[in-house]
Amino acid sequence: MNRPQPIEKMIEVIKKFPGVGHKMAERLSYYILKMSNSDVDRFLDSIRKARQIMKSCSTCYNLSEHDPCQICSDSTRDHDVICVVETPQDLIAVSKVKEYRGLYFVLGGALSPLDAIGPAEIKIDNLIKRLKNDSITEVIIATDADSNGEVTAIYIAEIIKKLNIKVTRLGYGLPVGGDIEYADEVTISRAIAGRKEM
Ligand SMILES: [Zn+2]
Repeated sequence: MNRPQPIEKMIEVIKKFPGVGHKMAERLSYYILKMSNSDVDRFLDSIRKARQIMKSCSTCYNLSEHDPCQICSDSTRDHDVICVVETPQDLIAVSKVKEYRGLYFVLGGALSPLDAIGPAEIKIDNLIKRLKNDSITEVIIATDADSNGEVTAIYIAEIIKKLNIKVTRLGYGLPVGGDIEYADEVTISRAIAGRKEM
């Protein structure tokens, strides 16, 4: 027996979420169908609210309820150091490291030649513009330790060096191929302390 069309449709939509395969999409679809109306309402409401309220900070591109975000508008932070990360989730991971008191820049991804993601698809131009306008003395590149993250780090470092700004890359401790988002606080803290000039 074929699955009813409305359920098929749900599965197709849910399958588009990152890391969700067909089996998981199927499980989630049947789960949602069993949820109470009030739970479904709360679920949909939380998505709608978050999408309405959250905006991209026009300085660092972090997701925030305010623009500029809390970090960019914090005058007690070190405003001449920027840590460059791929995603807002990576920023959250690095922000758990208390020793780091600088600012951030969220690229919105990494260069990926295989997926046709070039410099124009992520926020490299905006980063360069910011570096030219603000007085930044060091850029710490904290892209992921996978091949796309490495390519991105090298590409950005070459441009930044020409602006006579110190560029460093997170040091030892991060697992090769690892996503910053999933690294623990101690590991990131060590990687920042052990950062190397590029
Ligand atoms: Zn910001």
